Amino acid sequence: MTVPARQSLDDLILECEQASAELEGKPVAEILRWAYERFGDGLGMMSALGYSGIALIDHIVQTGYGIEVFFIDTGFHFPETLDLLHELQNTCPLEIKVLKPSISIDELQSQVGEKPWEANPDLCCHHMKVEPLLRVLHTKKAWLSAIRRDQSSTRAGVDIVEVDGRGTIKIYPFANWSFERTWNYIKERSLIYNKLHDQGFFSIGCVHCTKPVKAGEHERSGRWHSMPKLECGLHSHRK
Ligand code: SF4
Repeated sequence: MTVPARQSLDDLILECEQASAELEGKPVAEILRWAYERFGDGLGMMSALGYSGIALIDHIVQTGYGIEVFFIDTGFHFPETLDLLHELQNTCPLEIKVLKPSISIDELQSQVGEKPWEANPDLCCHHMKVEPLLRVLHTKKAWLSAIRRDQSSTRAGVDIVEVDGRGTIKIYPFANWSFERTWNYIKERSLIYNKLHDQGFFSIGCVHCTKPVKAGEHERSGRWHSMPKLECGLHSHRK
């Protein structure tokens, strides 16, 4: 099925709500099949290559669909994250494209301060993450993401298929997977993953804004530790 050229936002939201209800509880492979039949080459994936992303990439590889994966290189990633990126680029059948910010770290510092992640983390995320995302968002009709409902309060209400606050169609095949189920899958499949996960980092972003998580703490509590910030702005939920 091709996407109608001028489908109204209300019609799109209704279609996604109906698809979401039908796909709730279905296997990841079935959700991917629906998404690929609906959007074809217009389907992309955005990933920071966390462990859920690794599990979703593995599911996509098994389907044989040639879905492009996009990774945003903020310039502030851990070496372990970049090592994983390069290993995947050398071994994964999917094309993993790297997006870079339009401004350099020097330009960012001259605009925001020596430590932009402290001076104005929202502006830092905007320049280094959201701006590269916005440059490619329109190149795809729908985006896969491996976010899960059990990751945080901001993600607890996501649907399997939804239209986000930017009017972008998002598909979350792992929405109802748990932390344990995802790790069991990774171990069963002997998948490579970010080595920082073995050191207590569960949600991994930039060096300056990511801390390991202590026992009993929420998975994303290591992100923007001691700040009210919960999301970088890549995910713009409508509800
Ligand atoms: S996560 Fe931190 S360092 Fe990375 S772009 Fe956002 S504020 Fe800047």
